[in-house]
Amino acid sequence: MSIEKLKSIIKESNNIVFLGGAGVSTESNIPDFRSSTGLYRTNNNLEYPPETMLSHNFFISHTEDFYDFYKDKMIYKDAKPNDAHIALAQLEKAGKLKAVITQNIDGLHQMAGSKNVFELHGSIYRNYCTKCHKFFDLNYVLESDVVPRCDECNGIIKPDVVLYDEGLDMNVLKRSIEYIQNADVLIIGGSSLTVYPAAGLVEYYNGNKLILINKTQTQYDYRAALTFNKSIGKILKQVV
Ligand code: NAD
Repeated sequence: MSIEKLKSIIKESNNIVFLGGAGVSTESNIPDFRSSTGLYRTNNNLEYPPETMLSHNFFISHTEDFYDFYKDKMIYKDAKPNDAHIALAQLEKAGKLKAVITQNIDGLHQMAGSKNVFELHGSIYRNYCTKCHKFFDLNYVLESDVVPRCDECNGIIKPDVVLYDEGLDMNVLKRSIEYIQNADVLIIGGSSLTVYPAAGLVEYYNGNKLILINKTQTQYDYRAALTFNKSIGKILKQVV
């Protein structure tokens, strides 16, 4: 049975790397983008498509609309880690998992206890003034007017999340690539693997133990040693 195979792969390895996406947090009641219950499918009445509203250009040109949408749809302050986050944190603690590389911005891996987390797309918990670069926490953003402004220079505050048309932090990307290149086992979960460059990170994996856990099929399923089209929380809870 493939679940038994996965258990033995995990048992034998001390160099596992995890690469995940929005599907890791759906069991914490944070919608992903592309599932049938995801943000892209359930918001047909918006004036602009979500991809536009989450773009750098839109942030600059329609800052108020950006923040309306962002605060309403991207921030789930009360969300708690689920079985998937918890299992990954346990694997790290046991010395088996070397890094979590995530496309998520919700901070739930750290909340579950993971230490070595690479946030490819940033975090809702970090925000900075676009003028003087002073940093602000999430509460400051949530408690301010629609558009948060710096308490020192009145500059507009921007979340430290990677918007469409923005580049990734090169250091985070480089370290993620290094971990994936050196990984013995790569587990990928909860990602449609359609957002680049994050999806392209699969290409750097040199091993033959690629595990894919995603409710729906992905373009990389053919490369996987094991594929589970199931809930990532349930699978990881069973094997850890
Ligand atoms: P995506 O929405 O494109 O794909 C999510 C995938 O996860 C889907 O293929 C879906 O079938 C699968 N999935 C959903 N729930 C699952 C579950 N419980 N178990 C297993 N699989 C499950 O998400 P993506 O590939 O991460 O790319 C979209 C972008 O969305 C990323 O850039 C990310 O920054 C952003 N995003 C982040 C959050 C968050 O921080 N929680 C939420 C929404 C979107």
